[in-house]
Amino acid sequence: MRENHPFGLQTLPFGSFAGPDGRPRVGVAIGDHILDLTAAWPALSGSDDGLFAAGTLDRFLAAGPECWARVRQLLTHWLGEVSERGRVATFLSLASAHTMLLPFEVADYVDFYASEHHAANLGRMFRPGSEPLTPNWKHMPIGYHGRAGTVVVSGTPIVRPRGQRRTADGDIQVGPSTRLDIEAELGFVVGVPSTMGTPVPLSRFDRHVFGVCLLNDWSARDIQAWEYVPLGPFLGKSFATSISPWIVPLAALEHARVAPPPRSPRPVEYLDDTGEAPWGLDIRLEVRLNGTKVSEPPFAEMYWTPAQQLAHMTVNGAGLRTGDLFASGTISGPTPESRGSLIELTWNGEHPLRVESGERTFLADGDEVVITATAPGPYGTTIGLGEVAGTVVASPESKSLDDSAAPAHSTSRR
Ligand code: MN
Repeated sequence: MRENHPFGLQTLPFGSFAGPDGRPRVGVAIGDHILDLTAAWPALSGSDDGLFAAGTLDRFLAAGPECWARVRQLLTHWLGEVSERGRVATFLSLASAHTMLLPFEVADYVDFYASEHHAANLGRMFRPGSEPLTPNWKHMPIGYHGRAGTVVVSGTPIVRPRGQRRTADGDIQVGPSTRLDIEAELGFVVGVPSTMGTPVPLSRFDRHVFGVCLLNDWSARDIQAWEYVPLGPFLGKSFATSISPWIVPLAALEHARVAPPPRSPRPVEYLDDTGEAPWGLDIRLEVRLNGTKVSEPPFAEMYWTPAQQLAHMTVNGAGLRTGDLFASGTISGPTPESRGSLIELTWNGEHPLRVESGERTFLADGDEVVITATAPGPYGTTIGLGEVAGTVVASPESKSLDDSAAPAHSTSRR
């Protein structure tokens, strides 16, 4: 393994891959290889607890922080000590030889809206002349409940969604979205459940949350714009959400923890992290569209931290379940090159992007979007988060995206 590989000993992310018989197996990424933990755990630890026997992370996630730390310590020993090499080698194989699977059963899925730059950009575009942020924005992390059943693993093709939109003339059309977008985000994976009626305070964030993945919240802007008042995003988002196959433990991100940006006004008590260990994270994302880098969103710029998001999600007494996934919201920084969605990068389609395959405002059929990220690790090392990739495929009834095509069904509101 070359030195300072993003999946070096400092990272040790967990995932699930298809074994030779097609059944899932838990893997740990090490360099360009995968350690088959479903096979290695009983053999190397001597344990018969079946922790990884099912091939997914669900049991391990639920097992809690002491177990997570013990397994990480053992993995560091097995993969780091020369004396263990012979025992371990038999469980290693090249990652490129395997198909990655969704690593855990997604319980509930929540998406936040925690970047001030993103929220302000969208406010300026859609509510020109009024305050870019809504009155509640700086008092709570705004979020909505998404669709857990359509969270898919990286590489899953994204079928262009169909739905209703309203044209500039006020006509209602039904058809494939003509404004398909991405949102570059991080997802946080809950391991340990919480009891209904018992909020999770900021200080207990890492007792419940196991780790982090990359997330692309595919968004049909035309469907979203027409449907979202008054109850928020629905079908414009729920057709697909992609996550990276590797879940990076919070334990690997100790050196990436940074103070979040200053908050004003001071948040209410359950969100006030003054004096708490910081949960801002210096994770740097890159977004590529058909191979061309189009953005470098900085997670450290996020106004609300994941600890505040978890505290807010549970302040009303809602319980957590193993496999709950909550996403940060689009990560946009202060500069035009650090915006995490096409609607911002092209300013609502006014300024097309130039990529190798041509000009783009929103996504065309066949377009591939790849989001990657890194963070600082110990001793100058790099923590890699891998990638979340997805390619857009045509909506079944419309093989090409054509704004001028007659819609399948149209009514006039005029
Ligand atoms: Mn989103």
